[in-house]
Amino acid sequence: MGRIKYIFVTGGVCSSLGKGVAAASIGSLLEGQGLSVSLQKFDPYINVDPGTMSPYQHGEVYVTDDGAETDLDLGYYERFTSTVLTRQNSVSTGQVYEAVIRRERRGGYLGKTVQVIPHITDEIKSRIRLLAESSGADVQICEIGGTVGDIESIPFLEAIRQFAHEEGRRNVLFIHVTLIPHVKAADELKTKPTQHSVMKLREIGIQPDILLCRSDRPISDEMKAKLALFCNVQKEAVLSALDITSTIYEIPLSYSREGLNQVVMEYLGLEGSPLDMSAWDDLVERIKNPVGLVRIAVVGKYAELQDAYRSIYEALLHGGAAHQHKVEIIKVNAEDVEAHGVEDYMTGIHGILIPGGFGTRGIEGKIEMVRFARTRNLPFFGICLGMQCATVEYARNMAGMDNANSTEINPDTPYPVISLLEEQHGVVEKGGTMRLGAYRCRLEADSLAGRGYGVPEISERHRHRYEFNNNYRNALADAGLRLPGTSPDGSLVEIIEVPNHPWFVGVQFHPEFTSRPLKPHPLFRDFIGAAVQEAERQRHPIMASPLEQ
Ligand code: GLN
Repeated sequence: MGRIKYIFVTGGVCSSLGKGVAAASIGSLLEGQGLSVSLQKFDPYINVDPGTMSPYQHGEVYVTDDGAETDLDLGYYERFTSTVLTRQNSVSTGQVYEAVIRRERRGGYLGKTVQVIPHITDEIKSRIRLLAESSGADVQICEIGGTVGDIESIPFLEAIRQFAHEEGRRNVLFIHVTLIPHVKAADELKTKPTQHSVMKLREIGIQPDILLCRSDRPISDEMKAKLALFCNVQKEAVLSALDITSTIYEIPLSYSREGLNQVVMEYLGLEGSPLDMSAWDDLVERIKNPVGLVRIAVVGKYAELQDAYRSIYEALLHGGAAHQHKVEIIKVNAEDVEAHGVEDYMTGIHGILIPGGFGTRGIEGKIEMVRFARTRNLPFFGICLGMQCATVEYARNMAGMDNANSTEINPDTPYPVISLLEEQHGVVEKGGTMRLGAYRCRLEADSLAGRGYGVPEISERHRHRYEFNNNYRNALADAGLRLPGTSPDGSLVEIIEVPNHPWFVGVQFHPEFTSRPLKPHPLFRDFIGAAVQEAERQRHPIMASPLEQ
């Protein structure tokens, strides 16, 4: 393969158009043509990373193997392609300025005035090239966060304009993801916002090559011709990206039906193999034609937000696809459980998942949920804070440790079964100071986790400060709690299981970050498997539970 080619994805008209999924889908199509890709996200905010942002602001914080706390779009990149991302793949304005200011303090600018152009833009361009050098990919897809016209994104747009100028136009492609809204009063789709958005781009010196037009109904040929003419784009490069309601994993397939991969390959002069998306075709078929349904309660603090548990929701769907079952996610607010009790929320539920989280709000509701799952033999999956809540519940109700807690919730608890590691004591900075990224974990072969993974050692991503307190290891194990996964040196408990229960697993790490639609995570697969059995049992209540058989 020749030199690396670049695709820049920008967004027009408004946010939430699914630019991340669009960039990821382009990646999966290029992989489908036998090319290797790398994806990079530029975020215009001044935070160094989203690790310090509330889920209300930002949605989920996605963690890479090397421990970077990144934008959730990186999750889409990893789920839609076979790439494994690192901190190089996620760049914020905060990081760019931090690097430039550090260099300035070291005297790196030799007496010059440090300015947005060229110093900030140079730093942005160098981040693009650095990734290109280390990834060795055929195509690098860079998504510019925000919407064209935002003050914050101007330095990034200026940088990619310069970049295209330097690399030569044959080597760079600009794709603008835009909205064609339907105006009810006129019953018409409107092109004007897109015209304005492209005008804004051209003002900066960027002429988009491809328009990817989001709309809730088909765009006519006539309208595509109009957009082509007004936006100065070839007609074959005005592509419709109709809302997909079945599953987001159909998006690459719908783009290929529009011919997006052909246009991209042709414009960049790329040569690849004929498009093969058969694995995705199969997956979408399975998702669209389920043989049954399971209902999973996800009990969190941010139940009302779409994106706070994005990777968890996706991983649950992957687990469902593995059993060809639809997974209906019931979002339960942990505080409502505190106010109204568990029973209200539990009719027709086949499994309970408690995701990660921080702080005290809703904790007692979560612990109550754990108790319900444990005592009623409902499949239970606790992730990070969810595992910590399960440990607390077990300590309180099975090991006689009244008021046991995590010291994050109650620093004065008589039984601090979850507590800070020595090295975390004195840490005052919040950003990037947790246990972050991939750590290895050794498994007991005959446990639920051991059987699920089918290997003696795994690697999973972490993002937490508190840990299972080793001082309580023996007492909890004596009370029946199983600890089948630890760090290879045995010093950290990574997995807990409750025996004599259909499926009860808590993990200190975040398996949701490594689940892929084409390769569902074994724990999510088995959790849904247990939920499928539970659904069966609820349909035939006479049937003995797996434990009574
Ligand atoms: N708040 C807990 C801790 O810091 C759990 C973190 C999480 O769930 N990601 O250990």
